[in-house]
Amino acid sequence: MNTKVCKFGGTSLANAEQFKKVRAIIEADPSRRVIVLSAPGKRNDNDQKITDLLLVCQELADQGLEIEPVFNRIRERFIEIVEELKISIDIIELLNETERLIIDTPIKAFVASRGEYLSAKVFAAWIDAEFIEPAETIVFRNEEHICPSTYPKLSKRIGETGLYVVPGFYGADENGLIKIFPRGGSDITGAITARAVEADVYENWTDVSGFLMADPRIVNNPESIKELTYKELRELSYMGATVLHDEAIFPVRDVGIPIEIKNTNKPSARGTRIVSSREPSERIVTGIAGLKNFVMFQIEKTLMNKMVGFGRNVLQIFESRNISYDHTPTGIDTMSVVVRADNLGDKLDLVIDDINRTIEPDRIDIVSNLAIIATVGVGMVHHVGTAGKLFTALADEGINIRIIDQGSSEINIIVGVNNKDYEKTINAIYRTFVK
Ligand code: ADP
Ligand code: ASP
Ligand code: MG
Repeated sequence: MNTKVCKFGGTSLANAEQFKKVRAIIEADPSRRVIVLSAPGKRNDNDQKITDLLLVCQELADQGLEIEPVFNRIRERFIEIVEELKISIDIIELLNETERLIIDTPIKAFVASRGEYLSAKVFAAWIDAEFIEPAETIVFRNEEHICPSTYPKLSKRIGETGLYVVPGFYGADENGLIKIFPRGGSDITGAITARAVEADVYENWTDVSGFLMADPRIVNNPESIKELTYKELRELSYMGATVLHDEAIFPVRDVGIPIEIKNTNKPSARGTRIVSSREPSERIVTGIAGLKNFVMFQIEKTLMNKMVGFGRNVLQIFESRNISYDHTPTGIDTMSVVVRADNLGDKLDLVIDDINRTIEPDRIDIVSNLAIIATVGVGMVHHVGTAGKLFTALADEGINIRIIDQGSSEINIIVGVNNKDYEKTINAIYRTFVK
């Protein structure tokens, strides 16, 4: 029998109305039999995600403070869903037990995982499916990696037939201690599960009709992308197009399971299919994504290019301070290192001191409040004039380009601009290549 693994995100499960849409999607196709769920998300822009409310409870409990007022907001949301849908589950007892555990064990990963746990428990009871406990099947080796034993464990639990519900976002280490993926990590659970059951497709259901050519919060009504390679997706999601968590690609890519991004609110829309390779289409650019708040260290030293080990010495400084870097544009006598302000934290002065001491540069400039924007497309490098067209578009808008990096990956052109020009830059690139 065909098997589709379907992951539904927070907005797809925000209330009883959304639960009904999810159920209708599952019932429309018998091969949709392995369901991975997020915790209920925001019902509107002013609302809060269950996960965020849980994290507040954790902080309060950790300080020995009352969690009741905040926990009651979580309580009300689950009770409303269960009552409206007349689900036969003792939700009051389940919530009371959860509250007790949060107070007794205010460990962040455990508390954060309870949104997915409750969501999946309730949904499994409603559609009469088997609940799969990730703490017994998804084994974390460390904060970043799962153990390979996860795959046989999951596939043993999930049968060739039947209907299963798996909570996203968490698992446990070898000692049974609950661990979580980064925020948005239910996408990763979905990908791992798809691989474990050798799914025909991994459907990722969200609140947009597929991967769009740009962030819909920046570009008005962007076009959706029909087909995207894993590599293009990786570039776009790493650079901030957060539709799918960037780490969710690896488990399925390695075994060639296609991903489909679909809209829970509009199931008939075509969505986006992510595949290993595709013919370049008549469109040169596939998508545009970006992130704000980078810091660039511009290091100048005459004859730097002749000094053996110069680059390594510079990067060593960042390594020894435990700071990862994103880009290293270089010139003849200059080398720049671009890092995320979040990763740099309060280590700016320390790094400058290290550079002055070990590199003895002629000059060092710090450029902060930088935004990095990636324009991505498989056929791009073979198209004469793509970069020129992009730079002209930005020049016409009076945007000052601080960094240009036509990356070694061949499928993107990266520009760095001031944070304040971020939205303007994305719109200018979009207009040039799409409209
Ligand atoms: P879920 O709760 O289903 O996991 P997310 O909020 O994580 O959903 O991801 C979907 C959101 O990603 C969209 O609502 C949209 O605001 C945002 N987004 C950012 N960039 C893009 C893009 N290029 N295409 C589509 N959505 C995007
Ligand atoms: N609920 C978690 C979060 O809000 C995980 C997820 O939704 O993917 O980040
Ligand atoms: Mg998400």
